[in-house]
Amino acid sequence: MAEQLERREERAPARFGGLDYAPAPEATDHVKLRADHGLLIGGRWVDPLSERRFKTISPATEEVLAEVAEAGEEDVDAAVKAARAASKVWSRMPGAERAKYLYRIARILQERAREFAVLESMNGGKPIKESRDVDVPLAAAHFFYHAGWADKLDYAFPGRRPVPLGVAAQVVPWNFPLLMAAWKLAPALAAGNTVVLKPAETTPLTALRLGEVIQEAELPDGVVNILTGAGATGAALVGHAGVDKVAFTGSTEVGKAIQRTLAGSGKKLTLELGGKAANIVFEDAPLDQAIEGIVNGIYFNQGHVCCAGSRLLVQESIAEPLVDKLKRRMATLRVGDPLDKNTDVGAINSRAQLDKITELVASGEADGAKAWQAPCELPARGFWFRPTVFTHVAQSYRIAQEEIFGPVLSVLTFRTPDEAVEKANNTPYGLSAGVWTDKGSRILDLANRMRAGVVWANTFNRFDPTSPFGGYKESGFGREGGRHGLAAYLDLS
Ligand code: NAP
Ligand code: MG
Repeated sequence: MAEQLERREERAPARFGGLDYAPAPEATDHVKLRADHGLLIGGRWVDPLSERRFKTISPATEEVLAEVAEAGEEDVDAAVKAARAASKVWSRMPGAERAKYLYRIARILQERAREFAVLESMNGGKPIKESRDVDVPLAAAHFFYHAGWADKLDYAFPGRRPVPLGVAAQVVPWNFPLLMAAWKLAPALAAGNTVVLKPAETTPLTALRLGEVIQEAELPDGVVNILTGAGATGAALVGHAGVDKVAFTGSTEVGKAIQRTLAGSGKKLTLELGGKAANIVFEDAPLDQAIEGIVNGIYFNQGHVCCAGSRLLVQESIAEPLVDKLKRRMATLRVGDPLDKNTDVGAINSRAQLDKITELVASGEADGAKAWQAPCELPARGFWFRPTVFTHVAQSYRIAQEEIFGPVLSVLTFRTPDEAVEKANNTPYGLSAGVWTDKGSRILDLANRMRAGVVWANTFNRFDPTSPFGGYKESGFGREGGRHGLAAYLDLS
């Protein structure tokens, strides 16, 4: 088996008997890139009072795409004041009226779906088939779903009197820039709050374009304000005294810092942080299906996924054939140009993230784990990392404990369901998990015993606006999606 695999590896560059896929690049001419962008404050695009700007690039080519404003403290202050002023109008508007605006945003996103998908892939490096089939449709779905709740809040929380919180400060990461903005904006707006949103430094362009959509939908001025910038802008925003609610998605480290800032302030906080999910495969699982789930679980979006199935727990009896199958499947992954419709794995989001992945992979090798990488050619420019799988991993290794946030899988084995649960829970995180087995009773049993906010059964990475998503332990608290997500933006006393 190992020998066969080796031979396959040698052949792999000339995949499929030498018949490789022809390039199928998505056109970019319909995406009008603006040379520079202002901040959206009070319904207008304004130059930053800070007078600072920074460049945003394509991680696949390192080309500069645009310049964006870096909001300083004065800009944060202006945006929070604009949101406060708009709150008078928005919070008192009948829910059915607010719903109309949200439906408009959803429909415009659908109409401009191709433009958004291409821009997302250009700025963030993710494959176009993912931004086209996952990010953009789900973003629209979140607005549709929450539009439906806007006039039904009393029914969502029977016997309670739901009141909006006021001004929400929302900070989002770079792995799903548009989708995370939608996850944050849609429930906040449906519940009657106004918002100041800060996209991540490396991926501001789709959030800025969403700002245009919000203008096109004619939301009242100041209901949504968008501030681009880096960590300091985020820190100034969440620390601003005029903010009533903070919603953050990103690293556990920054989440902890925000929690310290807000302690004792009485402000509401939800944190969606990192993860180190176990994807557990039992010997009775449908193996071919499980392989697809494993690949989707860790190589989707280059592994830049907080709920990625980065620890594969496989029952010892099938470990060898499963890993062999997995490597054969990995050898067929197409790595490269995010804008090519055939690409499975795109560019790493930034040089900093590439350095972090490289360092953690080196630590795995130094610890004694065995790395195998999919044989593929990487483009000369840009940030890339080969899909990687580690075997001979001990639970104490950093690659089994820390979030790598890249296309790197660690394989561990177990013998009994109890051992699987114990290993799955042996992490400071608790965001998601996967179980692959033929037995329904085992799925229910494991789902109950795993400290994970989401447990997928015989599938992975499924998202739906109706379904609450969030973590335990160092993965944060609070839920996004469903009625639970809506509740985080309301005073229900
Ligand atoms: P991060 O620093 O936590 O960034 C998340 C967001 O917070 C970004 O908009 C960021 O701005 C902003 N930010 C940074 N420092 C802040 C502060 N002190 N106060 C308020 N906001 C602040 O995450 P990262 O540096 O981009 O990624 C580091 C690691 O975090 C990743 O390797 C991964 O492990 C994890 N991560 C998890 C998720 C998730 O979905 N749970 C998402 C992204 C990253 P800048 O973009 O300008 O830094
Ligand atoms: Mg950062």
